[in-house]
Amino acid sequence: MTEEKTLIKKIRATAAMREVMAAYFLELDDAARTGSAKVVWCTSVGPAELLRAFGFLVYFPENHGAMLGSSRMAAELIPAANAIGYSPDICSYLTSDVGSYLMKNTPLTKAYGIAGVPKPDLLVYNTNQCRDVQDWFAFYQREFDVPLVGIHTPRAVDEVTGEIVAGLVAQEKALLPTLEQVSGRRFDIDRLREVVASSYRCTMLWKKVLNAATHHPSPLTFFDGTIHMGPAVVLRGDERAERYYEVLIAELEERIAGGVSAVDGEAHRFYWEGMPVWGKLREHAELFAAHRACAVASTYCNSWIFDPLADEDPFVGMARAYTELFIVRSEKYKEHYFEEMVRNYAVDGIIFHNAKTCPNNSNCRYGMHRRLSARLGIPHVVIDGDLNDLRLYSEEQARTQFEALVEQLQERRSSQI
Ligand code: SF4
Repeated sequence: MTEEKTLIKKIRATAAMREVMAAYFLELDDAARTGSAKVVWCTSVGPAELLRAFGFLVYFPENHGAMLGSSRMAAELIPAANAIGYSPDICSYLTSDVGSYLMKNTPLTKAYGIAGVPKPDLLVYNTNQCRDVQDWFAFYQREFDVPLVGIHTPRAVDEVTGEIVAGLVAQEKALLPTLEQVSGRRFDIDRLREVVASSYRCTMLWKKVLNAATHHPSPLTFFDGTIHMGPAVVLRGDERAERYYEVLIAELEERIAGGVSAVDGEAHRFYWEGMPVWGKLREHAELFAAHRACAVASTYCNSWIFDPLADEDPFVGMARAYTELFIVRSEKYKEHYFEEMVRNYAVDGIIFHNAKTCPNNSNCRYGMHRRLSARLGIPHVVIDGDLNDLRLYSEEQARTQFEALVEQLQERRSSQI
């Protein structure tokens, strides 16, 4: 199969994003060392707005997990967590993060000159995505001896009913006494409204970024998205994230106006389903570009679009936002979601990443991939791998699967001529 060496096109705004992320981590580090602000650890789709409304600085261990993956430190740190009883089969964000803690080795040192992750005053989880996050935070609860509270969300939800939302709102409100006690502040509904409003503006800007890829050719790829989603993940509810996305959107609009594509001669438009293989982002971006294939959409990047935050009741907005998510939903909902995404982004083929240690983000284990291909009339391939543990990933197998998909598309096109 012919493959041209292609350079990845850099997004200029990346420099601004790095500054935003550096300021975020340095502020957390300073707060943890000096006590200038309280630090809370929150799961990635936990109630971050509620925590920020109390003046907490919010740290996300999953973001650190992604850094451990992209820096390729994970595989050497995971065995430390295995050695204290955490199975190699469970979430490799969890095992690499716990391993990082045990080995006192973090990518934050090289990236920002920070000695370690910021010590928490409080741990808050939401089980909407998986049970692993609760077990993960329970480890740190034992280590740091700080309060651990959480929200238990139903899973495989078909319709997000009023009853489900009411139950979740009650759980959110049940957190208030702990948040007041640890923060030393009284709950202020007006402050919460402000934070939720900022988070909503951020999520709408992030949606606009991703929607730019509906354009032909696309000005950005899924691989760009995994990098640029950082502020939407860790700084939603903080206006610095909004300012950043305004800069990024301006650049993407400039690309569209100038006919600049993320991938030269874009010939194939793919959907990436599942987690990224963090340690192989660059290789994947280059492989796709070399075959003039653009990964234009993904479930992963879209998971930080929270339309329901527009609700006039901020508690209801958060409850809906963190339950209407793809990962929380039923197979029926997910199939419908894929159908819409494939249509909106004019996708030619789907790549399912079967991440060994994250069944929650792997949607090719119960036949959905085959049902979708049959119904939508587009091909797919499955790449076996993992988000962080590169020992579970085969470069050769991934390349072969990817090239098989490109070949299928080329054959289809030539048979239509
Ligand atoms: S959803 Fe998957 S990757 Fe994320 S914390 Fe849970 S098991 Fe880990």
